[in-house]
Amino acid sequence: YQQKPWLKWYDPRVEEHVSVKHESLYDFLESAVDRFSEKPAFTFYGKVFSYKETKWMVERLASALHKEGFKKGDRAAIMLPNCPHYIFSLFAVFRLGGIVVQMNPMYVEREIEYVLEDSGAKYMIVLDSFYPRVKKVQPSTSLKRVIAVNLTGNRGELGEGDYYFEAALQDDDVNLPEVEIDPHEDVAVLQYTGGTTGVPKGVMLTHYNLLANFNQVCDFIYNTCDDVPESFKMITVLPMFHVYGLSSVALCGIREGANQIILPRFDLKEVMETIKREKPFIFAGVPTMYFALNSLPEALKDCGFSDVYYAGSGGAPLPVEQAKAFENITGSTLRDGYGLSEASPTIAFNPPFLPRKYGSIGIPVPSTFVRIVREIEDGEYVDVPVGESGELIVKGPQVMKGYWNRPKDTEDVIKDGWLFTGDIAKMDEEGYLYILDRKKDMIIASGYNVYPREVEEVLYKLEGVEEAIVIGVPDSYRGETVKAFIKLKDGCGISVEEIIAFAKANLAPYKAPKEVEILAELPKSSVGKLLRRVLRDEEIAKVKA
Ligand code: AMP
Repeated sequence: YQQKPWLKWYDPRVEEHVSVKHESLYDFLESAVDRFSEKPAFTFYGKVFSYKETKWMVERLASALHKEGFKKGDRAAIMLPNCPHYIFSLFAVFRLGGIVVQMNPMYVEREIEYVLEDSGAKYMIVLDSFYPRVKKVQPSTSLKRVIAVNLTGNRGELGEGDYYFEAALQDDDVNLPEVEIDPHEDVAVLQYTGGTTGVPKGVMLTHYNLLANFNQVCDFIYNTCDDVPESFKMITVLPMFHVYGLSSVALCGIREGANQIILPRFDLKEVMETIKREKPFIFAGVPTMYFALNSLPEALKDCGFSDVYYAGSGGAPLPVEQAKAFENITGSTLRDGYGLSEASPTIAFNPPFLPRKYGSIGIPVPSTFVRIVREIEDGEYVDVPVGESGELIVKGPQVMKGYWNRPKDTEDVIKDGWLFTGDIAKMDEEGYLYILDRKKDMIIASGYNVYPREVEEVLYKLEGVEEAIVIGVPDSYRGETVKAFIKLKDGCGISVEEIIAFAKANLAPYKAPKEVEILAELPKSSVGKLLRRVLRDEEIAKVKA
C-alpha cells in the first residue's frame, strides 16, 4: 500500500487538526448510508446487512421506542455480545437523543442492578439468555421496558409488556420525532469504568467526543493510505460494550464503509479461520488475543496476517517478547496503541506511516496534546524532561465531559482541561510515548519503585511463559515485595526455582520476584485484560487472615 508522507499531512502544532462536523452520531450514520447505500455493512454468520438495511432497522427500533414514550436524555442500557443488533440499538437510541448505557454481559445481578440504578436507565435491550438476570433485579430499579434479542431461534416467554426485537421491526407505521441534538453538550454513551478503585463510574462521552475520536483514529490509519481498497472487510471481535471496540473498531468501520465481520466472542480457532477466509484489511485486538494466537504458531502462520494492512493491539500493555513472536511468525507488524474510557478511548498509537517501536504506544493522534508531569506541590505540576517518567496528562476533543453525577470525581481527574490518566509514562527524543505502568500498580519495595510491567517484560523472555502478572504483596520488612503469577504454555515444565533464578539474573535484586506461583489460568476481564487487582486482593486477604 502507498502511504502519504506523514509530515506534510500531520502537523501536531495545528490545534484543531481534525475537523469534526457539527453533527450527531445519527447524522453521521445517515451520511455513511448515503455514501455506501447498498454496500454490505455487517456480516454475522452469513447474514449480511447493507448500510441501507442498517438504517431501516435503526428507524424501526427508534420508532418503537418513541411510541413507548422514550424521550431525549432517557437512558437505554444495552447488554449484548457483538451482533448487528448492537449497532441497530445504539443508533436507535442516538436517533432519539437518548443515552446508551454500556453493560458488560458478564455482569452478575448485583452489578446489573448497580449500573441500572446509577444510570437511571428506563429501557434495556438484552440478549434473551440474560433476560432472567435482568428481571430479577428490575423491581429495585427504574427499568420500565426490556427488549430481548434472540440469536438462536428458540424464543422463550417474556414478562408482561416486554417484547422481542423482531416485534419492533414489524410495525410499518414508522413515526420519528424531531430531536435537536447539541453534539458538544449531549451525552451519547455512558461507559462504566472497571472500577479498579472505588465504585464503577459512568464516563460521559458526548456525540462530539466519539465523533472526534474515531475521526482521529481514521485520520492516522486511512487518510495516510493512498490506496485503501474500494470495498474491504474487517473483523469486529473486540466487544462493543467496551469503548475500544465501539469507537476505534465499529464506528471507524462505518466511517470507512467497511464490511464488518462480526464475531460475538474471541474463539481462537474461529478467529483464525475467519481471518484466513475473509482476508481483512485491518485487525484490532487486545494483548491476550495475540498471546493466544502466538500459542498456535503453525496455524497462525497459515492465517495470512502478512496481508493485513494494519494489525493493532491496545487496551493493556503489549509485552515486547509477545509482539516480536507475533511478527516473527506472521511476517506482519504489530502496532501498540493506548487509551482509556475517559478519552473515548484513543490517545496514541503506532501509525502505519511510521516505523513502530517495541514497547512504545506510538505518538498522539491528531489534535491531542500530551504532557508528562510531576507534582511539585499540592496541585502544582511541572513537565519532566524528555526521557524521564511522570504522569501522562492529556487534552483533546476526545476527553470526556465528566463522570455521570459525580462532579467531585470529575474535578479530581480533569484539571484546567487536562485529563490526568493515572498512568506513568515517558517520551523519547522522537516523541514516541512509553507507558511504564499505572500509578496505582507501582510497587514500593524497600523504598525502591518497581514497575510491575518491567518485571513482566523480563518474565516473558523466558521460553514457556504464556502470561505473567506481577504484583506487590505486603511484607513486614520491605513494605512490599514482588510476587509473580505465571501461566505456562501447554506442555512446558519449567519450575518455580528456574523462573526465580532467571528473574534474578535479569533484574536488580529489589525488582526480582521473591515468590512465584504457577497457575493454570490467570484472571482476565471479559475484554481480555489481565487483572492484577484480583490477585492482589486475594494476597492481601491472605495476609489479613
Ligand atoms: P479502560 O478505561 O478500562 O480501557 O482502561 C484504561 C487503562 O488501560 C489505561 O489507563 C492504562 O492503564 C491501560 N492501557 C490501555 N492501553 C494500554 C497500552 N497500550 N499499554 C499499557 N497500558 C494500557
